Amino acid sequence: MSSLKRAIFLDRDGVINDVVDRGDNCVVLDKQVRWTAPWTYAEFILKPGVIDALQKFKAAGYLIILATNQPDLAYGTMKREDHDKIMTDIRALPFDDIFICEHGRDEGCGCKKPKPGMLLEAGKKWHIDLAQSFIVGDTKSDMGTGQAAGCKVIIIDHEQNQKLEPDYRVKNLSEVMGILKSV
Ligand SMILES: [Mg+2]
Repeated sequence: MSSLKRAIFLDRDGVINDVVDRGDNCVVLDKQVRWTAPWTYAEFILKPGVIDALQKFKAAGYLIILATNQPDLAYGTMKREDHDKIMTDIRALPFDDIFICEHGRDEGCGCKKPKPGMLLEAGKKWHIDLAQSFIVGDTKSDMGTGQAAGCKVIIIDHEQNQKLEPDYRVKNLSEVMGILKSV
């Protein structure tokens, strides 16, 4: 029997906590953005049922690993103090590990999603069978990351991702358990 582990990689914004609607006129570094990460601690709202869902994934034998892009620090749209406060709450959740890419769009790193760097690094560190693992996200970038790493892709349904064709689409994190039971 393989000693490799299975994992569920989770995006943060839009999966663990709500994204924030900036409306039609929000531009960050020459790119128009509608839905963003919380930029202040006051905007950080944990989604309902998240802790329960994470505990169930663990009980089902999966490592649960956060893999999040946080370029807003580099872009100056967010202060380090707010980022740290949000991450303190995130670290209180039952994740096995947390990977954060803080690079901006033009820095050429290998970790910023849709590149698979964070998943590949986690895979080596934790001896993960990526083909038996999942990524749960809410954007095209998450989908690309999962595909590049060879994971199955689960997308949390949102108006910003209707055109994507992931392996699975769910309304919320709790529904992921149904997928785990079916594989
Ligand atoms: Mg997201």
